[in-house]
Amino acid sequence: MITKILKKALKGDSLQKNEVLTLFNANSSEEIQNIVETAANIRNLASKKIKLTSTVHLTNICQVTPKCKYCGFASKTSSEGYYHPFYKKKEEILKAALSVENSGISRISCSGAHGYRGKHAVNAAKIVKENTSLELLVNVGSDLNTQSLKELSIYETDTVCCNLETVNETLFNDLKPGEKLKHRVQICEMVSELDLELSSGLLIGLGESYKDRVNHLFFLKQFSSLGEIPIMGFNPYKDTPMANHPPCSLKEQMKTIAITRIMYNDIRITVPTPTIGPENVKYSLMAGADNLATVIPENYPTIVKGVGSPTYGNLKEVLKVIELMGLKTDHFNASK
Ligand code: SF4
Repeated sequence: MITKILKKALKGDSLQKNEVLTLFNANSSEEIQNIVETAANIRNLASKKIKLTSTVHLTNICQVTPKCKYCGFASKTSSEGYYHPFYKKKEEILKAALSVENSGISRISCSGAHGYRGKHAVNAAKIVKENTSLELLVNVGSDLNTQSLKELSIYETDTVCCNLETVNETLFNDLKPGEKLKHRVQICEMVSELDLELSSGLLIGLGESYKDRVNHLFFLKQFSSLGEIPIMGFNPYKDTPMANHPPCSLKEQMKTIAITRIMYNDIRITVPTPTIGPENVKYSLMAGADNLATVIPENYPTIVKGVGSPTYGNLKEVLKVIELMGLKTDHFNASK
């Protein structure tokens, strides 16, 4: 059954929900291997280079109340995270962006907490686009409005990210009691209406079912400008309400990355190095991902605590993994 579905996917035919669910239900190592290899083949057939995305965290001061139960990023949520509140000044954002550009990484994500109606994102877009030639993704969740989205468009922001995390509304309400799923969906719609590229991903291992993941992957099809899907495995951040929830297994992350690739052949599939773990970067690539996020160069000016876990991928180490796997990257100079 699995082989038949994978053959259909390789031919480029669209899969039905029940077929995608069958892939998620695959459990033997042979079946999972088959799914993962098919996904990597699909990516390689498009001879895609592996994109690297670095990051600047703009602020961890978040007005969402109560805080999302898994959050270790916002100030005072986790002793492993940033913990102390910060709001980066223009010079700090510029210094970080220039260090990323000088390292040969071509793309940066500017992300931050909620409570600014996108003004922090617009400010970062202005700084990045007026001073560097970096590709830019902004991720301030649903803390955006029509005005800030239009301004992001004026500054030629390449991608706007608003992760739905899960489309299981009961689970969403439990995990994110200070937010509404429908508001995140509205932001994704507004991004698409403005024809800005949308990035919107899944946070997995939170208690969602395979059916929820299938529904989520199909739900994303409605957004006309969808260009990127991040797959983020849950990791518990110390001191948070979910500190004792088990982390999402590598097997589940690989399976979900691979199935997303099988469903979405041409889309950018992003794996943040903090969520899969810097030591596991190669497994995300084996499963068909083509963008590694939160890749930090040696000369980066500040401490980084990853969103999703306090670790991150170091540029040199990530480049070594990509090279050993025989894959190509969009990094300007792999010897740097
Ligand atoms: S996950 Fe984002 S929106 Fe939720 S509390 Fe943390 S910073 Fe705020």
